[in-house]
Amino acid sequence: MISFSSLSLREELIQAVADLGFETPTPIQQKVIPHLLADPTDIIGLAQTGTGKTAAFGLPLLHHVDIDRKEVQALVLSPTRELCMQIQVEFKKYGMHLHGLKTTAVYGGVPIGGQIRELKHHPQVVVATPGRLIDLLERKALSLENVQYIVLDEADEMLNMGFRDDINFLLKNTPNRQYTWLFSATMNNDVRGIAKRFMTQWKEYSVTRENATNENIDHQYYVTQRHLRFETLQRLLDFTPGIYGIIFTRTKQDCQDIAEKLMKQGYQVSPLHGDMDQKMRSKVMERFKNRSLQAIVATDVAARGIDVNDITHVINYELPDDPEVYTHRSGRTARAGKSGICMSIVSTKEISTIRQIERLVKQHFNKCDIPDGAEVVRKRLFYYLDQIESAKPQKDFAQVYLSTIHERFEAMEKDELIKRLMWIQLKDTIDIYQSAEDLNAGYEQSSKDRGDRNNVRLFMNLGTKDGMDSPEKLVRFIAEATDLDPNLIFRVTVREMSSFFNVKGNAAEFIRETLSQKKFKGRKIRIDDADQKPNDKGRDRSRSASDRKPGEFKPRFNKGGSHNVNKKH
Ligand code: AMP
Repeated sequence: MISFSSLSLREELIQAVADLGFETPTPIQQKVIPHLLADPTDIIGLAQTGTGKTAAFGLPLLHHVDIDRKEVQALVLSPTRELCMQIQVEFKKYGMHLHGLKTTAVYGGVPIGGQIRELKHHPQVVVATPGRLIDLLERKALSLENVQYIVLDEADEMLNMGFRDDINFLLKNTPNRQYTWLFSATMNNDVRGIAKRFMTQWKEYSVTRENATNENIDHQYYVTQRHLRFETLQRLLDFTPGIYGIIFTRTKQDCQDIAEKLMKQGYQVSPLHGDMDQKMRSKVMERFKNRSLQAIVATDVAARGIDVNDITHVINYELPDDPEVYTHRSGRTARAGKSGICMSIVSTKEISTIRQIERLVKQHFNKCDIPDGAEVVRKRLFYYLDQIESAKPQKDFAQVYLSTIHERFEAMEKDELIKRLMWIQLKDTIDIYQSAEDLNAGYEQSSKDRGDRNNVRLFMNLGTKDGMDSPEKLVRFIAEATDLDPNLIFRVTVREMSSFFNVKGNAAEFIRETLSQKKFKGRKIRIDDADQKPNDKGRDRSRSASDRKPGEFKPRFNKGGSHNVNKKH
């Protein structure tokens, strides 16, 4: 096993990694560092965030720069401001004993003046997003004349974000560039194109596979109906009271919507996506890092900037299209030797994607049942019991309050006191979950037997005149148009111009939203509550989740209250 001290790094750098507590180099570091120290020729490193890639290029880079020369010798290009800041922070740590070393990070989304002033202090290393760097070059705030080393970090992502021309421009305008080190999570023709054009005789190092198979990650999947995804997410959050996690969505819109819905219900979460301005994103990261937030709802691109090592759970609200992206997401947990859980919420149709990812990750995924109400309550009970067991009240707490507490409860039995304290903690959860529905896919067949308590009767402006000549045909049409299980639709009445049908409460909203956006033979489909339509008997419609008025819903995590388990004390 290679150790850091056996690498021929400068003393100051070996001291820094020792101070940071790094014991052994990670696989990418073991491969790349010896090469870059001995012979800093061009390389391609295929490695994702979390593999220690920043140190893999950072340590050799700082080893090679000449601290006595007050000019920019090394340039690191990165796709996002968050990543730039992260690299800068890492470099500062590695360079803590290199007196005279200056690294500056420049990125968009903040005023340029401060960065121009910083560049006047002659850094040897500049970490930059391509757009802002070009802006600074045009303003003559720095010169790339003496740059010898260029690192392209997350090259695939820079190309995805449309920085190709900027990268080309910068590589062309570094006349003394001798060494180009390209790091990328994935390899594709675009990335190879950059290498072919600007690099010579590079060597390739890859740790993608090893990293994908991180045995410390427990991969779990939960199968539900498409329209129950959000309820399933809530259930999983309630089932993991100590969560410190990232919830991934596919789109910015979903990210915003889901975060808002969760926030409304009292969860300590926040969205993080590219449409938020830099200031807001930094604020979110700050709150996440100081644990005021229990989870971030993020898109894949925005999450790249999250540099947090102790994420307990990653939740895929939806699976990504590309199985490779799954490994990026799950790799946010179980970092630096810790263990973690990656939960995916899937529909029956997506089980085949799970199989595909299993093959890529080379690990078995555990199919788990979505917990029922009693399990959630039990889990939370144990969570509070653990918290009581490990609580360490401040020294003066007893002095100040204990006598008052004694006076008040002297006559109360210990068991009664414990019962009441636990009741206060759990009553909201019990209230919400005492008649919680089964969210597991496949339960619907039996749900009809349980009566129509949660059913909603809907009206639709299509009937026999439109070819819906039997209830079966109508059910088939709705199921296909919404991708829902046909068993969710029943008690169908088809008339000449319209029809009525019952659906499970939670599916009603989904059907309404999905079908209202569709047309049938050029006519807009209209869906309404049946009880707003005349001539329909059998409109026994009880309240459903979607009927809840804001504020009527009991929050699961009270702001600043007892449920806010992650707040720093
Ligand atoms: P990166 O993949 O560069 O984003 O690094 C992920 C995290 O691992 C960072 O917080 C680094 O500080 C940390 N790290 C890097 N190398 C090591 C190492 N050899 N041992 C322990 N932690 C490391």
